[in-house]
Amino acid sequence: MIKINENYLKLASSYLFAEIGRRVSEFTKQNPDKEIIRLGIGDVTRPLVPACIEAFQKAVDEMGQASGFKGYGPDQGYPFLRDAIAKNDFQDRGANVNADEIFISDGAKCDTANFQELFSQEITVAVPDPVYPVYVDTNVMAGRTGAAVDGRYEGLIYLDGNTANGFVQNPPETHVDLIYLCFPNNPTGATATKEQLKAWVDYARKEKALILFDAAYEAFISDPSIPHSIYEIEGARDVAVEFRSFSKTAGFTGTRCAFTVVPKECNVYDTNGKAHSLHAIWSRRHSTKFNGVSYPVQRAAEAAYSSNGKAQIRESIDYYMANAKLIKEKMTSLGYSCTGGVNAPYIWIECKSDSWKFFDMLLNKAGVVCTPGAGFGRCGEGFIRISAFNSIENVKKALERITHCLNQD
Ligand SMILES: *Cc1c(COP(=O)(O)O)cnc(C)c1O
Repeated sequence: MIKINENYLKLASSYLFAEIGRRVSEFTKQNPDKEIIRLGIGDVTRPLVPACIEAFQKAVDEMGQASGFKGYGPDQGYPFLRDAIAKNDFQDRGANVNADEIFISDGAKCDTANFQELFSQEITVAVPDPVYPVYVDTNVMAGRTGAAVDGRYEGLIYLDGNTANGFVQNPPETHVDLIYLCFPNNPTGATATKEQLKAWVDYARKEKALILFDAAYEAFISDPSIPHSIYEIEGARDVAVEFRSFSKTAGFTGTRCAFTVVPKECNVYDTNGKAHSLHAIWSRRHSTKFNGVSYPVQRAAEAAYSSNGKAQIRESIDYYMANAKLIKEKMTSLGYSCTGGVNAPYIWIECKSDSWKFFDMLLNKAGVVCTPGAGFGRCGEGFIRISAFNSIENVKKALERITHCLNQD
């Protein structure tokens, strides 16, 4: 008899976006002529920039010629891309990261999901709440938790985010081994200052813990005092892994390219307390279970760092951030308090009611899809997330409809 991995049975009901999809399709079935504006799922809407497309197409042509054809690439990714990343994303910002510490992959979702495989079943894991669900669900699948009770898994340490801490959690009073942090944050749009990240780095060093730092939204930071990388913090190279992605920054959600930084100084420990190189173990895992991102995609990603590529991507991000500003200003003027929307493409809005109820109200009365905060954890109850990823015309139309529907109540 083929038996199931029973950890999968612990996973709490339907995935957030599946439930949103269900409610939206129910609404369209009942109201086939009503146009819906989606400000829910965090997916980009603007096309790949010309610099990336040119490099992409050129590389495809190379693949069709005997002289340019490439088979399997290097395990960690092509040096041309890793060099461009190390220089532009880190060294130019004063963060010490070398090209051989960068692992190219097909997504930060996969990397943040897979990384926990390297650790023992017994470790204590801390996750923020609200949270990007991938961090939690993959630890459940791996058997690192008990059952879900009242929407929280036994055995996980939840770090509460709320208006009091501005959705930037302090390190816990107790010991944990593995910490997931995401700044700029999805879903709250909150960012951490250098001092706040320093507190986490100091904690991890003291506890011999490891920080998994998800910086998928770093390109949306406009405030020059906010760090883009955890390696801008002294001491982080010993205790932090960083995840980055071209998805939101360069519009690669459908193209697929990301990377993970594992500094050579990071260690993991065996039961005897002996240190092992995390870089060596991730490298072993990566080369065994992953076979690389396609050559044309890596060339397209490299082009994101050309001077044209940088300018074009900046324009795209500015476009989204103009949307974010409109959303934040409008919702604030309607009397709702908002987090995010300044250094992140998400606006996290205190909706002063049950978050699924507010979701249903916006859907049914305004035809606007948002994301109910409760889907990101217990602390998300009472909040909704609105995404800036859409055309400015749709954002304006959505805000008019929201204003109209909220003024009716
Ligand atoms: C979108 C997103 C990612 C990126 O995922 P990819 O697999 O690279 O597309 C990573 N982390 C968070 C928090 C995200 O919202």
